[in-house]
Amino acid sequence: MTTQVVSSIEEMRTHVLLARRGGESVGLVPTMGALHKGHLELIRHAKDECGRTVVTLFVNPAQFNQPSDLDAYPRPFDADLEACSSAGVDWLFAPSAEEMYSEKPLTFVDVEGLSDGLCGPYRPGHFRAVATVCAKLFAAAPADRAYFGEKDYQQLAIIRRMVRDLNFPLEIVGVPTVREPDGLAMSSRNVRLSPAERQTAAVLYRALEAAQSSDQTASRVLVSIARHVIASEPLARVEYIEIVDRDTLAPVVTVDRECRLALAVWFGKVRLIDNIAIIPR
Ligand code: AMP
Repeated sequence: MTTQVVSSIEEMRTHVLLARRGGESVGLVPTMGALHKGHLELIRHAKDECGRTVVTLFVNPAQFNQPSDLDAYPRPFDADLEACSSAGVDWLFAPSAEEMYSEKPLTFVDVEGLSDGLCGPYRPGHFRAVATVCAKLFAAAPADRAYFGEKDYQQLAIIRRMVRDLNFPLEIVGVPTVREPDGLAMSSRNVRLSPAERQTAAVLYRALEAAQSSDQTASRVLVSIARHVIASEPLARVEYIEIVDRDTLAPVVTVDRECRLALAVWFGKVRLIDNIAIIPR
């Protein structure tokens, strides 16, 4: 099947509303393109659960902290369209920046608290930009369900909360992280790793697994287990490693309920994030 490319908000909304009026459910998969197997897994879930599927492709300038990261972001449009067609996606919504931000915006969505920790302090304004653009995408493609990866765990928690707080009439579905055979979480940024960095980056999953399989319950100890594993790789520079409550993302001292260990680590100029569930035994 051929995926239809849509660039106008008005046209996108019409397609979704007509499909829903015709009795079909619509699944929405927001992405920044450079589609990989992680994105395809979100699409698979959407197709399993919904009659029609929209993938959005928008590299949102507002959510990048460094212009160099925005410039270096891969944009293989033809390959993305091909991937959507092969996966049976109905619409690829790919608006221009002018279409999404036709005038300088005065309205923003701030999900307080959940945006403050983990990546928050290192990426000022990032989650506000993400929440705002997702609100705009939900209005442009008013779907029944939207699919987000657990790979970006803080983002998923923030979007879930925004939808609850603002009564958006859609369900947020979280999808487990898809990994390379060596455990590295799939990410559009992985292509920017040098061969040596790429090989080294598998250490992140080893660190997450080491903490997860430990029977310790003190966060401090679990974090130092992960930190120790990463320290074995000189190319890795840790930004943060933290254990937080699964829902509130508040720091946790003792793992007495399901928590999440999350980390951000630099390899050269590339910043990678990952996370794993930490469940008390
Ligand atoms: P991005 O294009 O990086 O903004 O990601 C778009 C969506 O795909 C987000 O909901 C991500 O969490 C999700 N995603 C990215 N990488 C993965 C992965 N390895 N496994 C599952 N979902 C992912």
